[in-house]
Amino acid sequence: SLTIGIVGLPNVGKSTLFNALTRNNVLAENYPFATIEPNTGIVPLPDDRLPVLAKLVHTEKIVPATVTFVDIAGIVKGASEGEGLGNQFLANIREADAICEVVRAFEDDDIVHVNGRVDPADDIDTINTELILADLQTIENALPKLEKDLRGKKVTPEYVAAVKRAKEILEAGETIDHAAADGRIDKDDIRDLHLMTAKPFIYVFNVDDAELGNEGFKAKLAESVAPAKSIFLNAQFEAELTELDEADAREMLEDAGLKESGLDQLARVGFDILGLQTFLTAGEKEVRAWQIHKGWTAPQAAGVIHTDFEKGFIKAEVISYDDFVAADGSYAKVKEEGKMRLEGKDYVMRDGDIVEFKFNI
Ligand code: GDP
Repeated sequence: SLTIGIVGLPNVGKSTLFNALTRNNVLAENYPFATIEPNTGIVPLPDDRLPVLAKLVHTEKIVPATVTFVDIAGIVKGASEGEGLGNQFLANIREADAICEVVRAFEDDDIVHVNGRVDPADDIDTINTELILADLQTIENALPKLEKDLRGKKVTPEYVAAVKRAKEILEAGETIDHAAADGRIDKDDIRDLHLMTAKPFIYVFNVDDAELGNEGFKAKLAESVAPAKSIFLNAQFEAELTELDEADAREMLEDAGLKESGLDQLARVGFDILGLQTFLTAGEKEVRAWQIHKGWTAPQAAGVIHTDFEKGFIKAEVISYDDFVAADGSYAKVKEEGKMRLEGKDYVMRDGDIVEFKFNI
C-alpha cells in the first residue's frame, strides 16, 4: 500500500503528531491479521457518508479506507552527504510515496530549536536542500550513462532533455514537485529517476493554539509553500484529542472553534495527494470504503475486492450516494426510480459510487 513519510527537523513535534496518529490506529479493529511496523501509523480516512449508510442498511460494521504514515526520524544537515543516519534517512524517504513535512511554527522558550529560533521558511529550506542535493547526486550519477545511451540511441533526446531540465530546477534550489505544479516539468517524463523531490509534498505547520484561528498568519505560511498543500494544527492538542472518547473530542474541537481535527485533515489531504479515491459498498454485513487509484475503471476496482472479480467482470451496478440516501437505502426503490446505472468495463469510477459488481467465476 502507499505510504506517506513524515519528516522534519528535531523538536518540531513529529513524535507528538505521530503518536497521536497511531493512537488513532484503525488497524486492530478492522484488519486483525495484518502486522504493523512500530514506525507505521495506519489511520482511517474520515468519511461522514459511512455512518449514514450503516444506519440505512442496518449494519454495525463500518470499514473505512486508510492512510498509512511512516515516521522517518533523523533529518540533519548533511544527510545528503550520506553520513551515518543520513543514508538511512534518505533510504526511508525513497520508499515513501509522498512526503509530509512537519514544520515548527509554535513558540515555546522551553523547547530548544535546533537553529536557535523559530523560522518556518528557514526550516523548510534546510530540509528541502538536503533532498534537493540528494536528487542532484542521483542525476549526476545517471548523466554519464545517459549521454552514452543517447549516442547509442538507447534513450531519446527528449528524455535526456527532461533530465537536464530537472537538474536545472534542482540547481535553482527548487523541488521537482513545486516546478511540476507550475507546469515547468512533467513528473511522468522523469519517473525513471525516482527523485525524492518529485514525490507530492504536504506541509504540516505545528502552530500554537492561539494561531489556529489566525487566518492572516496561516495564509502567509501557506503562501510560502504554495501550490503545495498545507495543514495547520497543534500537535499537542491533537494528542490530547485522541485520548478522549468521540463525544468529548467533538466538544473539545467545537470549543476550540474547529470543524475537524488536524489529524482528519491530514488523512484526507494525504489520501488525495497519493492519488487515491474510494468507492463504497453497503450491505447487511458491512459498509465499506474501498480505496482505488483515481482514474481506475470498474474492473480494476472490482479487483480490489477480489482478484477473480476483475477477471470475470461482467458489469457494475452503480448508485450515487445521494440517490441511495434519497431512497432510504432501498436498492429496490433506487432501481424502480431508474437511478441504478449499469456500467461496463470502460467505466471510470467516481468518488462516492455505491457499487455492486456482477461477475463470472
Ligand atoms: P520531534 O523531535 O520533532 O519528534 O518533536 P517532539 O514531538 O518530541 O516534540 C518536541 C517537544 O515539543 C516536546 O516536548 C513536545 O511536547 C513539544 N511540542 C510538540 N508540539 C508542540 C506544540 O504544538 N506546542 C508546544 N508548546 N510544544 C509542543
